[in-house]
Amino acid sequence: MWDLVVVGAGPAGSAAALRARQLRPDARVLLLDKADFPRDKACGDGIAAHGIDELDLLGLPGLVADYLPIRRLSVLSPGGAEVSATVARPNHVVPRKVFDARLVDAARDRGVEVRRHRVRAVEARDGHVVVDGTFTARAVVAADGASSTVRRLAGVPATAEKHTAIAVRGYADVPAGDDVQLIAMQKEGWPAYAWSFPIGDGTANVGYGMLLPRLHATGLPGRQVLHGRLAELLPHLPARDLRAHHLPLSPGRPRFGVGRVMLAGDAASLINPLTGEGIYYALLSGRLAGEAAVRAAADPLAAYRRDMRKALGRHLRTTDVLARAAQSPRFIDAAIGTAAGRQEVFDLLVDVGLGAGTVPLPLAWAVVRRWLRDLVR
Ligand SMILES: Cc1cc2nc3c(=O)[nH]c(=O)nc-3n(C[C@H](O)[C@H](O)[C@H](O)COP(=O)(O)OP(=O)(O)OC[C@H]3O[C@@H](n4cnc5c(N)ncnc54)[C@H](O)[C@@H]3O)c2cc1C
Repeated sequence: MWDLVVVGAGPAGSAAALRARQLRPDARVLLLDKADFPRDKACGDGIAAHGIDELDLLGLPGLVADYLPIRRLSVLSPGGAEVSATVARPNHVVPRKVFDARLVDAARDRGVEVRRHRVRAVEARDGHVVVDGTFTARAVVAADGASSTVRRLAGVPATAEKHTAIAVRGYADVPAGDDVQLIAMQKEGWPAYAWSFPIGDGTANVGYGMLLPRLHATGLPGRQVLHGRLAELLPHLPARDLRAHHLPLSPGRPRFGVGRVMLAGDAASLINPLTGEGIYYALLSGRLAGEAAVRAAADPLAAYRRDMRKALGRHLRTTDVLARAAQSPRFIDAAIGTAAGRQEVFDLLVDVGLGAGTVPLPLAWAVVRRWLRDLVR
């Protein structure tokens, strides 16, 4: 009998396993992944400061300290408004091949049993869960990503297409000393944007993402659209090693699980619908799921749901409302325009887009006023 079986060893799964052993060093924790690590994962590799806080909470300060802290962020809105400013706390850009392998190594060092295994069956029994007829667990964390098998087996519907994005990422050479994270939004096919996130070693992670229904509406092959628009928006940064993946965006009130199965990270559709950021939410939800598994063994899902609502409830509802407003590119123009003149607005937007931030009424009003003014003009 395992105290916890975690399916998927990305940031969400490793965080769950790490937290369970951190709180109960004698807990029997099994971490399963269909891949061997190090493995690649299509991602922008951007780790927000909030994600670094999560690493601290997991007892892993300094896990990415050898990577360059990135302090500048430039955002170009669909209508051409621009803000370029210093972020309150630095972000990091760490290739997922490195980051995820470090997390798995840390979990193994903490006594988590890590095995290569693709999960195909999950069965609820009285008071426990049986995975693939072999592993019996008091609790299961489904952290198996955007196309989660465990989520489907547990009967939780997949993310609706209107809440799903798709993005391609690659790597490009950048001039020495490039230390600005760039986000260039695009009016055509909006919401859509390209990014360049310098790693600090003379290369940058570059990519382009858009909503899946917008891609389908083009009637063109996905590869042609995604690769073509990336090259169009960042012509000076020819990309290699291109790789695409779906992003299940948060619908505002995600489902957190069924019975003794808790969903975390992309399996719970926890990607920020405004930015496509998911690593922080994966680490946070994984940590809380691992915590619930060992602290509330009688009913871990109830504890997990409560903790998630406390940590992210208001934030998720905020980003849901903002994502609806952001369907209008002019709303984003107004938000970026406001942030360009006021550092506190810029900081708040970063907190909403990359962390657990919410929007105070006066700020919402400032943006709406500018939006209306621009509309009238
Ligand atoms: C192109 C792109 C760019 C992005 N850029 C950023 C960014 O810059 N910053 C950011 O914060 N977020 C970004 N995201 C989102 C981020 O990548 C995800 O939110 C994050 O990876 C979620 O972590 P996770 O642990 O939930 O899932 P994953 O990282 O996807 O890990 C899931 C794991 O489950 C394993 N697995 C799957 N099925 C099974 C199975 N049946 N049995 C066993 N194992 C299984 C997989 O092998 C994988 O290791 C981006 C996403 C994309 C697609």
